Amino acid sequence: MKLYYDNDADLTVLKGKTVAVLGYGSQGHAHALNLHESGVSVIVGLRSDSRSREVAQKDGLAVHDTAEAVKKADIVMVLLPDEKQKDVYEKDIRPNLQPGNALAFAHGFNIHFNQIVPPENIGVFMVAPKGPGHLVRRVYTQGAGVPCLFAIHQDPDDNLRDVALAYAMGVGGTRAGVIETTFEEETESDLFGEQAVLCGGVTELINTGFEVLVKAGYRPEIAYFECLHEMKLIVDLMYEGGIAGMYHSVSDTAEYGGMTSGPKVINADTRKRMEEILENIQNGNFAREWILENKAGRASHEALRRKHSRLPIEQIGGELRNMMSWIKKD
Ligand code: NAD
Ligand code: MG
Repeated sequence: MKLYYDNDADLTVLKGKTVAVLGYGSQGHAHALNLHESGVSVIVGLRSDSRSREVAQKDGLAVHDTAEAVKKADIVMVLLPDEKQKDVYEKDIRPNLQPGNALAFAHGFNIHFNQIVPPENIGVFMVAPKGPGHLVRRVYTQGAGVPCLFAIHQDPDDNLRDVALAYAMGVGGTRAGVIETTFEEETESDLFGEQAVLCGGVTELINTGFEVLVKAGYRPEIAYFECLHEMKLIVDLMYEGGIAGMYHSVSDTAEYGGMTSGPKVINADTRKRMEEILENIQNGNFAREWILENKAGRASHEALRRKHSRLPIEQIGGELRNMMSWIKKD
């Protein structure tokens, strides 16, 4: 697998071009500021009533209404919430695109699941930093970068790989390494990761372990430290040294017990469920469900949020974290 670094990219490809960054949230502010400081001509596109306008202006960036920014731009990076992109595309983006313009994304959802279908004479690419926006910004100011994925969906003028790599360089990605992917691979693996492993899988694992201990009569404070708090320490060890590195650092008792009990928790049945989750993503059912959920005013999503906020682990966790002076509170 090839990793692209600063030497593989050429920022002068963006010379004379204007990049419009739509949205000034987590990713938007990081892309816009990093590109600006890399010498790229950047403008920010926002709604006329957006509270972010003032922030972007204070940061020294030119701000326009979304439609106006698209008109002025050669490259339009869409950093709006995924579920809002289609409406903004129909209303403000598509009518203002010129042949030769390129549309860019940091996640493939709307292109891969056909919510946005740009005309054939518009280039479409992705540059997706593999980290949250505040990190993309902070790491850049420290002279480093966050690794990125890039992908080309359609390339009418046969120049988008250079443009995408230059864009990735402008946000700092080629300082850390950039990998080529496809919209399909990025979208489906990203959704699977957050559902089965990262957000969904890990939280259910933690909460179920917590509830089993509490039901057996152990104090919730102890259960919280065991099942949630210590997760970070274990994950940090795996981040640095892989699974073997983690097992090297814990006791032999923990290693033996973990290796024998782990497959009882995540067993053949769990694997089958994971495969079903992946299939539900690949066949478009998850995308359709989420799009319809948004059209329905998120009735289910809000109900799930209520249910989650009432979990005992959240109550005890809130109290305990308030006593942990070393955890940043904001
Ligand atoms: P965000 O919610 O932090 O910011 C969205 C921005 O869009 C805000 O400035 C908001 O004011 C603006 N906005 C909201 N509704 C709008 C509308 N109707 N019209 C115009 N502007 C509107 O979003 P984010 O997390 O930065 O995500 C942006 C994109 O980046 C998404 O495609 C997401 O999948 C992708 N991405 C995010 C992360 C991350 O860490 N957050 C990582 C990789 C990729
Ligand atoms: Mg992700």
